[in-house]
Amino acid sequence: MAEGPIPIGYCPRCAREVLAVVAAVAEADLERTRVCAHCDGPLATATLRWIAEADLDAVGYAAYAEIDGCGRGGCTSGCGRG
Ligand SMILES: [Zn+2]
Repeated sequence: MAEGPIPIGYCPRCAREVLAVVAAVAEADLERTRVCAHCDGPLATATLRWIAEADLDAVGYAAYAEIDGCGRGGCTSGCGRG
């Protein structure tokens, strides 16, 4: 899997790899400033990694790009495809 701009990590509460978002409260430990996008829970230690958008489907986010808007018509992101 290639490295990319998207942070993911393992969430023990969701029992899967999840998108990691920046926590509301910043911690000194970089890994602890990233929490689960679904439940806001802390990620398991040392599971934070960065993947490419193309690898999202491999961790269960196949719909991510569609939700984000492109190629569906009426895309407002300025991508020029809609
Ligand atoms: Zn979670």
